[in-house]
Amino acid sequence: MKTNEESTGTQGSEDDEGCGCGTESSDVDNGGCSCGCGGDYPDEFVVNNPSEPKTMADEDFIEKLEKYAHSIGITSIGYTKVPPELINEGNSILFPNAIVLTMEMDDDLIITDPGAEAQALNDAHYEKLGNMTYQIADYLRENGFAAESAHPYGGVVRFTPLAQEAGLGWVGQSGLLITPVSGPRQKVSAVFTSIENLPIKTDDEHSWITEYCNRCGKCIKACPENALIETETCCGGKETEFVEERCIGCSEGCTYCIEDCPFDEKDYTDIKNRFERMNAKLAQNKNKTT
Ligand code: SF4
Ligand code: SF4
Repeated sequence: MKTNEESTGTQGSEDDEGCGCGTESSDVDNGGCSCGCGGDYPDEFVVNNPSEPKTMADEDFIEKLEKYAHSIGITSIGYTKVPPELINEGNSILFPNAIVLTMEMDDDLIITDPGAEAQALNDAHYEKLGNMTYQIADYLRENGFAAESAHPYGGVVRFTPLAQEAGLGWVGQSGLLITPVSGPRQKVSAVFTSIENLPIKTDDEHSWITEYCNRCGKCIKACPENALIETETCCGGKETEFVEERCIGCSEGCTYCIEDCPFDEKDYTDIKNRFERMNAKLAQNKNKTT
């Protein structure tokens, strides 16, 4: 059995802007459906936005918000300003301040072969995270802040690169978000809010994954539809093109590219430590030969 999360929820896009000559990194364009496979998902709010919403939240409130989010089933929470280029064409958002949410996918979806059953499980995952997203938006409103939900199956923004911006993980060659907590298996949604002072992290601690992916490529081999295509760049590097029309993540609940990703089997920190040791050894060997 095999997949892709946000295609089942994620993928890079086929927009290819090239490597920019000068880098050797292979890179999926962090776009794609992610999943935003489409559809209009109006906010099913219960509470109205306050007419004069608060814009500043103290640490206690953020702590309470995170506790509430985890209590209803959210796995990870990150914060970012929304880069305008991540808003899909023809869409707009009420606030540039994003609370990005992930929900880990269950084994039942991962182990079910693509088809009607897997798709039903996939849809159920989206619905579950969508409902949690609405609940979190209402929680904000009840506490005096304005909020707008972005359903994980809707196409308002590109969720995986947004989650990367929020410091939750990194977009791998599969186009899937890879996080320390859930590897490549999560759905992503967001709530846009009037809170101007969200605790945004600015480091790129997961950026090493790009280099790791360059040496791995398992998701490309795992894809039964040739939706992930590795190409050479003009300066000798590698890029992965995601051909959205071929991907059956959204239509059949395929998850093969999740299942075969090393981050789905092994611990993030172990992989990172081993990768760093390997790089140190390679550097040592190189020094010996020069
Ligand atoms: S079709 Fe390929 S890219 Fe799409 S979910 Fe399946 S394995 Fe991943
Ligand atoms: S399978 Fe390998 S190349 Fe693909 S996303 Fe996972 S780590 Fe990266």
